[in-house]
Amino acid sequence: MSIRRSAASASRRIAIDGSTRFAAVFGDPVAHSLSPAMHNAAYAALKLNRVYIACHVTPDRLPDALRAIPALGLLGVNLTVPHKQAALKIVRRLSAEARLLGAINSVVNRGGMLYGDNTDARGLELALRELDLALRGRLAIVIGAGGAAAAAIVAVARLRAARIVIVNRTRARAERLARRFARLPGPDQIHAAGLDELRDPALMGAAAIVMNATPMGLKTARFVSLDYRATGRDCLFYDLIYAPRLTPFLKPAAALGRPVADGAAMLLHQGALAFRLFNGMPAPIPAMRSALMEQLGRAPRRR
Ligand code: NAP
Repeated sequence: MSIRRSAASASRRIAIDGSTRFAAVFGDPVAHSLSPAMHNAAYAALKLNRVYIACHVTPDRLPDALRAIPALGLLGVNLTVPHKQAALKIVRRLSAEARLLGAINSVVNRGGMLYGDNTDARGLELALRELDLALRGRLAIVIGAGGAAAAAIVAVARLRAARIVIVNRTRARAERLARRFARLPGPDQIHAAGLDELRDPALMGAAAIVMNATPMGLKTARFVSLDYRATGRDCLFYDLIYAPRLTPFLKPAAALGRPVADGAAMLLHQGALAFRLFNGMPAPIPAMRSALMEQLGRAPRRR
């Protein structure tokens, strides 16, 4: 049996036999996931007899699916929507990072014991470092108050942002997140605000980075009203959403000449960190990046 990896790379095939090892992503929905393309490109590059598959796991079956990991001998699984928080109640052994973020995106099979970790914040931090962002001592604005926002807050705190403002539709949720991270090493202040503050020129003018950690713009062409013109020329607009084209959050910023980036590099690096956890070796990042860019219909970056 062999798997055709994609139309553009049909010549590279992965042979499956009696000793093939498996890793997977569990999600609901999951068919859109780009993780299989990235991880299988890594296995092909390293000539490993391993395969990464996508499993449609509904929330009611998550406990059974996780408990099956040791029984089936899976190397590990990534978790995507809507399982990241729910898995905390099932996986007992957790990294400090998973506890900090209140979510798991990687479950590793360590000799039959499940170990939960979260590579989202570290992946985002690596993606931001690639952009040479000068954040030390400056303001970061994070839009959203869910799991992705938590990863964004931790990442900008590690890049030494002095002030973080969490802007959310439901202000009370932003306040809860600000309280949760009040003792996070790094920032002097973490504030909560409502979406209307995105129209405040004083706030927007002080920002070194504005990050979208909500699904706004994923399915619709609209983003909430935001004073793009008040931002400084070097203010980075970073959308955690990844898409083949500029997202509705990034479009007006790009039109004004502001630097923009989407979540593709975050996806790449969280995946590369998960690869290392599952396989015990560094990920071949160029192979994973090329596969991801191919899936997104972008020309692979030459480094
Ligand atoms: P989530 O937990 O569902 O959080 C959703 C957040 O978005 C909440 O703060 C919610 O506000 C806000 N929101 C949702 N719909 C909104 C709307 N129509 N208007 C205003 N605010 C709205 O989701 P998540 O897991 O944090 O993920 C958020 C996004 O990050 C996803 O779309 C995903 O694509 C992206 N992400 C990317 C990566 C990557 O590797 N690049 C990794 C993880 C996530 P309320 O509190 O008011 O409901």
